[in-house]
Amino acid sequence: MKPRILIVEDEPGIADTLQYALRTDGFEPTWVATGEEALGQLRAQPPALVVLDVGLPDINGFELFKRLREVADVPVLFLTARSDEIDRVVGLELGADDYVPKPFSPRELVARVRTILRRTAKTAAMPAPAQLPATPVQIDDGRRQIRFYGRLLELSRYEYGLLKTLASRPGHVFTRDTLLERVWDDPGDSLDRTVDAHVKTLRAKLKLVAPQLDPIRTHRGTGYALAEDLPATLA
Ligand code: CA
Repeated sequence: MKPRILIVEDEPGIADTLQYALRTDGFEPTWVATGEEALGQLRAQPPALVVLDVGLPDINGFELFKRLREVADVPVLFLTARSDEIDRVVGLELGADDYVPKPFSPRELVARVRTILRRTAKTAAMPAPAQLPATPVQIDDGRRQIRFYGRLLELSRYEYGLLKTLASRPGHVFTRDTLLERVWDDPGDSLDRTVDAHVKTLRAKLKLVAPQLDPIRTHRGTGYALAEDLPATLA
């Protein structure tokens, strides 16, 4: 079955180009021009992925994104026309899966769609971490949410992937290469210090919940592990 891609775009020319490129590459595109239609489509028949133009006539793309996410957990690729929109996509860490600035090359966009779908499939195939009563890290993969001692963490997509991976085997040391491979789309472009930078921001978020703990242990020259000896509850 061909993966169905929902295109939300008010400019017919762009929508036509996109539909053609996607169809050529083996996808089944559906096009709607407004946010309301997009929500209707999503409720009726959730697609494999949504390509979402930020500048829509009836609803702002960011607002629509939030409403889409309330209906279904579908990957979203933003189309942006202005650099300030890109700043918002990146800066707000909305949890969008990617963005492509206009004007875009249809081939490039289709490649991004493919990458996102591959990553989504990989994440879904990863075994769910054991939810032992003692673990303070609770993962809700359907909602892409992680709670730490009951507190909901606001994580970027990479922080989420890192913590999920580490929590899948507490005590196990994951090398930076393994983490790059599992969490990043294109590990070839990323560096070890990319992992370090995201571990640092992740640690800061965990510290807000439990300042006295050191849940992510550094193993010098090797990688990172989630501590096995975390207390079941916070004192
Ligand atoms: Ca538009």
